[in-house]
Formats: sequence, structure tokens, C-alpha cells
Amino acid sequence: MTAVELGRAISRKEIKPEEALGAVYGSIAEKDKSVNAYISLSREQAEAQLRAGGAEGGLLRGVPVSVKDNICTKGVLTSCASRILSNYIPVYDATAVAKVKSAGMPIVGKLNMDEFAMGSTSETSYYGSVKNPNDLTRVPGGSSGGAAAAVAAGEAICALGSDTGGSIRQPASYCGVTGFKPTYGYVSRYGLIAYASSLDQIGPIAKDVADCAAIMDVISGHDAHDSTSLNIEHPSYYGSLTGEIRGKRIGIPEECFGEGVDEDVKAAVLACGKTLEGLGAELVPVRLPFMKYVVPTYYIIATAEASSNLSRFDGVKYGFRAENVDSIDDLYIETRSQGFGKEVQRRILLGTFVLSSGYYNAYYKKALLLKRKIIEGFAGAFAACDAILCPTAPTTAPKLGESLNDSMKMYLSDIFTVSVNLAGLPGLSVPCGKDGNGLPVGAQLIGAAGHDADVLNIGHAFQLATSFHKRKTR
Ligand code: GLN
Repeated sequence: MTAVELGRAISRKEIKPEEALGAVYGSIAEKDKSVNAYISLSREQAEAQLRAGGAEGGLLRGVPVSVKDNICTKGVLTSCASRILSNYIPVYDATAVAKVKSAGMPIVGKLNMDEFAMGSTSETSYYGSVKNPNDLTRVPGGSSGGAAAAVAAGEAICALGSDTGGSIRQPASYCGVTGFKPTYGYVSRYGLIAYASSLDQIGPIAKDVADCAAIMDVISGHDAHDSTSLNIEHPSYYGSLTGEIRGKRIGIPEECFGEGVDEDVKAAVLACGKTLEGLGAELVPVRLPFMKYVVPTYYIIATAEASSNLSRFDGVKYGFRAENVDSIDDLYIETRSQGFGKEVQRRILLGTFVLSSGYYNAYYKKALLLKRKIIEGFAGAFAACDAILCPTAPTTAPKLGESLNDSMKMYLSDIFTVSVNLAGLPGLSVPCGKDGNGLPVGAQLIGAAGHDADVLNIGHAFQLATSFHKRKTR
């Protein structure tokens, strides 16, 4: 069942929330040994939550939700999949978590991910790599790989992930589920452990667009705790799903269908365009001339911000602390050397380098100027269309162990997702087919800032007309 279907069944008293929760834990017990989607389970708290009730009448009341392990949950380990936070129990809930709780959604547990959300494969976790339920020899994508894998495997009804450069959309694409990254500022980041603050955004991963929209209705909104959260009226995202897209102009950027993109991926995404055309939308060519700059721009800005954000993990205030050290400098060095994995250390080094006084102008400042160009480039494209359609990722899920020894190649695979974060736009990934190996392909719909409801509605129209999102759980 989707989250919305389950919510309806619960409100009609056909299913008890306790039964639904028990079924999710049953499925975890059966499958998570092979998938490794969860870092921890919070069954006692979830059951207590159900006993406490709450939110009469809400669409998702009683529907279990699972949460990525970089989003703070009061009293429940929030490790960021890192050794350095392997003993961190937050004393507060992230705003998004507080909101799902007050909507009556019990929290099943915390989902595995790339350490500090840095990665595209969910292989850098201190708790071991996550496996793709479609093929256990392949990665689920990342960094919200645990979230996408859990939903795909039926180990979660729906999930909250985070997306800094594609971490909701790309794993959704690799696992054959639906993921939505909202406009920057639409969901509070309070309690999301920061990776790159100007790019980070919390969003839903679920079975379909309707679920993502229903979850957006719960988690979106202004929050005084997050100065970047926008103080605006949000529409009902679920209520905006009319499925009517006649006259919508869908931009097809040629830059996203060229060299380096798998033929099967291209074909499936272009077929998605044809389906939308059949529903009355108009396909228009658009240009995204900045595409060749987006990966370097992203990796400079993201690592610069990460190097600053991660300076708080020093072995003094909280988290893991190295033992047998002689001096305070040693304490810092040993704690950070032992506490952070390789990829995180690489990024802290890169970020520190691009911010250093000698290289700041050559790298960081130039990246900020390019970010401006990317925002303007999108604005140009949106003058001619209502949404852009492109692949979520150039390929389907790679084999486990293939990506980490070639970081450049892994970074380049983020080409279609990172620009959306740099420009603060909403982006949706919907399943749109399979490749020759039977692996899911995702189509990405990108909207202008604030056009979240529109983007969701286009994805919803596609799902009303197709069945790629309806998958049997294994
Ligand atoms: N793969 C990208 C990175 O490694 C995006 C990660 C994310 O969105 N958190 O930075």
C-alpha cells in the first residue's frame, strides 16, 4: 500500500496503526539483513507514539515513516553514518521530525546513508553499505540510499531524506521509487545535520508522487528555528494533484541527452516525454548551456561549506573522542582522523583548500559567480517552459565496489542533479522504465523556484497514465 492508501485504510478502521507498524517491522526482520537499509530501529518510541495518538483526521495519521540518519530524532541515535557521531543521541527533534510526529506518524527507525551525506552510492557508511533491492550486487544510490532501498524493499512505507546535490532523487531513481527535493527554504533544515547549508534540503522518498505531496503537506512551512526557511503560504500539495497538464510546456534540454548518457536511460526518459505529450503537454527544446560547469561548481561550494560545517566535530563537545592523546592538537587530529571516513576527509581537505587565502579567488569566488550564471541560465530556460524533463542520472545503478576508487567518475555522475540545488529549485524523480538488465530508470522533472505543486502535478499525471511506480516488493 502507498502511504495515502494506508492512511485511508487506518482512518476507515480497516487496519489498525499497530498492525501497520508491526508489518513494517516484520518486513525489516525478513529483509534488512541483506539490504542493510537501517542503522537503528525505534520500535518502543514508535509504539509509545501510537498510544499517544494525535492529529485526528490527518491524511497520514498512523502511517509509519522512516527517517534518514542525518535528521535529529530526540532520544534516538543520529549517527550520520559516521563513527564520529556513533554515540550521539540528540536532545531534540528536527522540525521535520516534530511535524511528522504531530501528524500522528510513528517513526520506524533511522536509515543508512553515505557518511555525512557525502556520496552517490551509500557505500561510505560506518555501518556498511546499503544494497539495491532490485539487485543485491548493486548500489542503491546515495546518499539517501537507505531511504530509497527501504521503500523499494517494502521495509518502509515512506521516508524522509535529504538532498544536497541529488541525494533524494538519484537513489529514488536507482531503486525505482519516487523522490522529491523541494524548493530551498520550503522545508525547515533545523535539526538536519549540515553538509552544505546553502544546498541542503529535506524531502520525501515514497512509492509515488501522491505520497510525496501528502508528506510535503506535513513537513513544509516556515520555521523560526531556520532563518533560511521561507515565510510564505504553502498550497496543499496533495490537493494540487489534479492530473491535468494540458498546455504545460515541458522543456527538453539537449545537453542532458548527449554523450555519457546510457541509451536505455535516454530512451526511457524520452518516452516519458512522449507520454506527457499524449496527456496534452507540449514538448519544447530548451538550452542549459551551463551544464559543463555544474559539477565543478557544486563540488567547490559543497566541500567549502562542508569543511566549515564539520569543524564542530572535534572530540570535545560531543561524539567520538580519540583516546591516549598528549595534547589538545593531538586530540583534534586523532579524533578527526579516526572518526571521519576517507571520503569525508577528502572533502574537508578539498573544501579547506578552496577557501584558503591563496586559492579563494581562483576557486571559491569563481564558483559563486558560476552559481549566479546557473541561476540565470535556469531562469532563461523557464521563460520558455513550465518544467524541464531530463534523466535523474546518466546511468542505472552501478555494481557495489565500482565507484569509490574513481571519485571523479562518481562526482561526474551527479551532473543532472547538482544544478537543481545550486539554483534552489524543486526536482522530482519518478520511475519511467527499466534498462536492459531490468534496473529502474528515473526521469527528473525540474521546476522554477516555488513551482513545487506544478512539478508534483506533472509527475502525478505521468503516474496516473503509467505503472512504472507500481512495483511488487520482493
Ligand atoms: N552525491 C552528491 C555528493 O556527494 C550529493 C550528495 C547529497 O545530495 N547529499 O555530494
